[in-house]
Amino acid sequence: MSETTVYLDNAATTRISDNVFDAMLPWLKEGYGNASAIYSLGRKSAIALNKARSLCAEVLGCESREILFTSGGTESDSTAVLSAARSGRENGKLHIITSAIEHHAILRPLEALENDGFRVTRLPVYDNGIVRAEDLEAALTPDTALVTVMAANNEIGTVQPFEQLAGICREHGVPFHTDAVQAFGQLHINVRRQNIDMLSLSGHKLHAPKGTGLLYIRGGLPFHPLLTGGMQQGGRRAGTENIAGIVGLAEAMRYAAENIDAKNEHLLPLRERLFREIGSLPGVRINGDTERRLASNANFSFEGQEGETLVLKLDLRGIAVSSGSACASGSLDPSHVLTAMGLTHDQARSSIRVSMSSYTTAADIDALISALRS
Ligand code: PLP
Repeated sequence: MSETTVYLDNAATTRISDNVFDAMLPWLKEGYGNASAIYSLGRKSAIALNKARSLCAEVLGCESREILFTSGGTESDSTAVLSAARSGRENGKLHIITSAIEHHAILRPLEALENDGFRVTRLPVYDNGIVRAEDLEAALTPDTALVTVMAANNEIGTVQPFEQLAGICREHGVPFHTDAVQAFGQLHINVRRQNIDMLSLSGHKLHAPKGTGLLYIRGGLPFHPLLTGGMQQGGRRAGTENIAGIVGLAEAMRYAAENIDAKNEHLLPLRERLFREIGSLPGVRINGDTERRLASNANFSFEGQEGETLVLKLDLRGIAVSSGSACASGSLDPSHVLTAMGLTHDQARSSIRVSMSSYTTAADIDALISALRS
C-alpha cells in the first residue's frame, strides 16, 4: 500500500487539529470523571461540559439549553427527523418535505417513515444541484410536519438557499431542519437570525474527533428523544457524555467559525485552478453549480472511466480523493445526487470528488493535476 501524502477527502473526514487535540487531552487523561457525579472529579467534568455548551451556543447564535450533544451527524439527523415526525403524528400531520440530494442520514429515516404512513416530497435540484424556493412553496400543505433541506451538499458542495427556505417555513409555521454537516465552517450560520429550527453538525468534518456532533433544537419546539435511559442532557439524550469529545467539538467550532473568511480565501483560488485545469481536460465535466458551492469542493466526471478506478490509480500516487459511485453498502449504484441532477448512470459512475481543508496546499493541487493529466 502506498503512503497517502496528499489528502483531498476532507468531506469524508478530517485530521484532528492541534488546537482541538490540546483542548481534549486533559479530559482524556486526568479529567475522566462522570459529569453526573457530585464529587469534585465529576463536577469538573460538568463544568467543562457547560462551558463547551455555552461556547457552541455562542457560535451558533442560540441559547445553551438549545444544544444537544450527539454522536455525530447521523444521530443528529435521525433525532431531528424522528422527533418532528412524532410531533407531526400527534397533530395529524403526516407530510415531510426534503430534497432529492440529502445525505442517507436523512433519506433512510424518511424511507422508514414512508413505510409507516408518512408522505415524503423530495424537491428536485435541476442540473445545477440546487433546490428552488418556489418548489418548496408549492409543496407545502396544511399537514406538513417538517421541512429538512441540507445547507450544503456533501458530494457536489452546492449551497442551498437554506435561509430563504427557513424564512418560508417560518411564515407557514412549519419546522425547518438543516443538515449543516458540510456547510458549517464555510458558510456564516446564525440559527436565530436565519430562522432555523433544528440544525445538525458533525465534529469529524471540522478537525474534531469522530463520534462527536450536535443538534440545535429551538427552544419551544416540541422534542422527542431518540435515546432514552439516564437523565443526561436534561433527559433529552441518554448516555454518559463524552467530555473530551464535546470539549474538542466546541474548540473546533470556535476555530472554524472565527476562520471562515480566511479559509474561503485560501481555498477559492485552489478550487478555481482545479476547475480550470481539470475541468478543461478532454471528456471531463464539472458537476454542480460552479459558483454557489463550497470553496472546498470540486466534483468531476471523466467520460468513459470508472470513478473507483481513478481513485485507486490516484491512491497509488499517494493521493486520496473519493468517487461518487460507491454507496455505503459497497455496491456500484451511481450516486443519487448526480442522477438527481440528470447525469446518466455512466456519467455518475465516472465521478470523483476532491474536497479540501485549511491544510490543503497549492502543492497538493499540483500533485493531483499532474497525476490526472498523466
Ligand atoms: N450529513 C452529511 C451532509 C454528511 O456529509 C455526513 C457525513 O458524511 C453526515 C450527515 C453523517 O455524519 P456522521 O459521519 O458524523 O454521522
